Amino acid sequence: MAISVFDLFKIGIGPSSSHTVGPMRAAATFAQALREQGLLARAQRVEVRLYGSLSATGVGHATDRACLLGLMGQWPDRIDPATIDSRIGQVLQERCLMLDGSQPLTFDYAQDMLLLDEDLPYHPNAMRLEAFDSGASLLSQTYYSVGGGFIVEQAEIDQPAGNSQAVALPYEFGSAEQLLSLCKVHGLSVAQLMMGNECAWRPEADVREGLLRIWAAMRECVNNGLRNEGILPGGLHVKRRAAKLHRSLQELGKPNVIGSTLSAMEWVNLFALAVNEENAAGGRMVTAPTNGAAGIIPAVLHYYMKFNPTSSDADVVDFLLAAAAVGILCKKNASISGAEVGCQGEVGSACSMAAAGLAQVLGATPPQLENAAEIALEHNLGLTCDPVGGLVQVPCIERNAIAAVKAINAVQMALRGDGEHFISLDRVIRTMRDTGADMHANYKETSRGGLAVAFVEC
Ligand code: SF4
Repeated sequence: MAISVFDLFKIGIGPSSSHTVGPMRAAATFAQALREQGLLARAQRVEVRLYGSLSATGVGHATDRACLLGLMGQWPDRIDPATIDSRIGQVLQERCLMLDGSQPLTFDYAQDMLLLDEDLPYHPNAMRLEAFDSGASLLSQTYYSVGGGFIVEQAEIDQPAGNSQAVALPYEFGSAEQLLSLCKVHGLSVAQLMMGNECAWRPEADVREGLLRIWAAMRECVNNGLRNEGILPGGLHVKRRAAKLHRSLQELGKPNVIGSTLSAMEWVNLFALAVNEENAAGGRMVTAPTNGAAGIIPAVLHYYMKFNPTSSDADVVDFLLAAAAVGILCKKNASISGAEVGCQGEVGSACSMAAAGLAQVLGATPPQLENAAEIALEHNLGLTCDPVGGLVQVPCIERNAIAAVKAINAVQMALRGDGEHFISLDRVIRTMRDTGADMHANYKETSRGGLAVAFVEC
């Protein structure tokens, strides 16, 4: 299936794309299916079954809450995050859920929200939703949240030919090698080639407008992160740092410009911390390509826009398009899901995408851009997913800041070369896939290994 830039960059809510955004979309899709099949009025009970990683870290990642919101007909890009606590509190207190926003039914959390120590074979992030009338099943659907907010229904797996969403792209590519070859043959930059593909879905003006809307949401997320203070929810008592760091950087005076990187790096850290703290707090944010890794691309793009006096909206569009080209390669040929391949799939892919975006706007040739993306991903290989307490906080928040700086460094190294290099991006992506396949399940978003078990609360 063809992947659009708008599949990778989606406005949503924190803290997780695979465990919050995806399940919420699945549950809202289920409620919509009940409505469309005329079953809504007959529904008296709904059961949610969470499997694998969705069960193991589901409470810390707010999967259970996301399912309730989705069942109430709420979508991640439209819900006001400020209303979430009261909506959930009402369901839990009154044991009543307004299915699809209109059909009241009894919802007993202990009985109807089942976090199971079982896996389904297709993907570690699996969930099954079932609606009943007075006793009999009305509708049962199984969904897989495959990373970045993407969901796959069991029916799509059983009957792949039935998927009619195929779009014919003018520049179809399945590897970085093909991407570079197409750029060379047609004399296009990576961003221009991606724009050509996006125009298979919508006119260029709409692509530009949509990407600037994504950028506005990223900016709003950073601004909220710079303003909000206090302790992050979830019980780890992690203190938000971005607001304080922002004040201290402002006191230091005028930041350095691109090319003089030392204090600029502190601003990059700041932007990433701001986004990931907002994400951890369940705020409005943009998948890039996931929630856990959502700070890297905005941080690098803010860095470019803040410190480059000639930056423009056109740069934002080019940055996001080039970043998406690499995200598509990671998703098609490996994974962007921490539950599938560990954190290398989330933070590694985002770091590589950010490097591609920055390389594009700094005037890299396509081979230099591919080199930058390769360096950025290569040095995230093997990164495990081991969030303490199942929360997207430790190590996730700092890890985004480190990866954002790494992406910038990767671009600087690539721009000093001519694009020729030892290991191709394709090989590194394949290595990420194979390393993920070899990785023990404890390190794939289950919180059963690594830092998640090294942390002892005193
Ligand atoms: S460790 Fe990485 S993959 Fe795991 S939740 Fe945190 S950011 Fe996501």
